[in-house]
Amino acid sequence: MAQEERTALDLKPNDPFDPYALADEHGIDVYTLSSLVEFGVSTEVLNHFTALDSSAWSAALVPLGTARVIVENESHAAVRRRSNIAHELGHHLLEHSFDNVVFGEDHKRQFNEEQEKQATFMAGELLIPLTAAERMAFDGWDNTRVAAAYGVSEQFAQMQMKGQRVRAQRAANKYGFQHATRRPRLE
Ligand SMILES: [Zn+2]
Repeated sequence: MAQEERTALDLKPNDPFDPYALADEHGIDVYTLSSLVEFGVSTEVLNHFTALDSSAWSAALVPLGTARVIVENESHAAVRRRSNIAHELGHHLLEHSFDNVVFGEDHKRQFNEEQEKQATFMAGELLIPLTAAERMAFDGWDNTRVAAAYGVSEQFAQMQMKGQRVRAQRAANKYGFQHATRRPRLE
């Protein structure tokens, strides 16, 4: 599914992903917290989430009738905002239902743990597709390089790369050299 969504944006496997473009593709407007002040969000609330306790809240997919919007915490680093939006798009693409939506609470109250894992997995595949991770692992890219190329944090790069690095290492052990010759090729 992530591959199809990337293809819809004309992305090759090694192209970086723009979560805002995919939101737009799905007709989902993305609002920052400060942009909601004019819709009645108090400056006290704004200040709480963007300054006092900035890490407490990242983003949410919000149903407005049949429409969907994403509200994001713009005080986070750009790489984190990108993965936050991708995660919310994951919930949307996977059609996670909005039963028991509790606004302002953490995600675990909105979606169950399994759905959280699925949304995070989807975000990973959107931002760093498997084929790209595979190639970079075989080529020995470190997290810093992966993060810079795909606009993600180093922790996020680690999350997407670790499985492929294990595979690359196994291949290297088996064949006795670091870079396998039959490494996956990209267009
Ligand atoms: Zn979530």
